Amino acid sequence: ATPTSVMVGTGRAAELGVLFRRGDALQRLQEVRTIVFDKTGTLTEGRPELTDLSVGEGFEENDVLRLVASVEAMSEHPIAEAIVRAAELRGLDLSGVRGFESITGLGARATVDGRTVLVGASRLMQRDGIATTAMDRAAAAIGAGGRTPLFVAIDGSLAATIGVADPVKSSASDTVSKLKGRGLRVALVTGDARATADAIAQELGIDLVTAEVMPDGKVAAIEQFREQGPVAFVGDGINDAPALAAADIGVAMGTGTDVAIETADVVLMRGDPAGVLRAVDVSQRTMRNIR
Ligand code: ADP
Ligand code: MG
Repeated sequence: ATPTSVMVGTGRAAELGVLFRRGDALQRLQEVRTIVFDKTGTLTEGRPELTDLSVGEGFEENDVLRLVASVEAMSEHPIAEAIVRAAELRGLDLSGVRGFESITGLGARATVDGRTVLVGASRLMQRDGIATTAMDRAAAAIGAGGRTPLFVAIDGSLAATIGVADPVKSSASDTVSKLKGRGLRVALVTGDARATADAIAQELGIDLVTAEVMPDGKVAAIEQFREQGPVAFVGDGINDAPALAAADIGVAMGTGTDVAIETADVVLMRGDPAGVLRAVDVSQRTMRNIR
């Protein structure tokens, strides 16, 4: 590649809202065989809303929501914000908490009004020895709808299941089908529940899905995809930074966290997944002109 053609390509990409932070990324992107997308905040809006809440016998809905929201008020996770907003909409007064603990990729815990409240993924309940059997069907229905199922335990007893919905971005489906149309493999990796990930993947036409992984699990997934050739990873979160670094090309959403942006080779300025397609096209055209 001549320096001039790379400069022209980089400039054209910038006009389309795609920032190549390294010149060699423009040249290497056209060698990529697999594009791996993070789900939350990358293919979805990343602003979930509480859609489901069902409590077990002996528990009162507003009481449970108030306790959970009190815990989540300490967390910065988008799911936490959805739960706090829902409690505020119902006019519930939150309490202060003691011993708040954020459990990365799983959920959160704290003591509220003398009661121990645990909220998060089914794997978190398993880890703490709390049986979810009574609510597994409710959670499965939430997941099948592409919404994220959460469980709540109060003083060690299963108290509720919660669903949050995070709609897919308007360009996501079209982007996936066009990337596939260009002969690329498209994959989804997420810390979210298996059923939720499968439902979203199906909606978008993605058939390679890795779910319920921690940040190091995203790296492991990328290493596996690399057996078929170079991999680009597209993500936005703090927990995506290891995967952005591990991929041959790291692509960050410009709307994402600073850590993600700093780790990436390419930044999509508007947080629009369609930017990936534009980046691939500019890369292919630039390299074709040269040879
Ligand atoms: P993603 O890969 O989608 O960005 P995360 O690793 O941030 O996911 O979280 C994975 C899962 O952990 C979430 O889907 C949720 O079940 C659970 N979780 C994480 N943080 C919280 C929280 N503050 N409250 C409830 N659940 C949480
Ligand atoms: Mg994300």
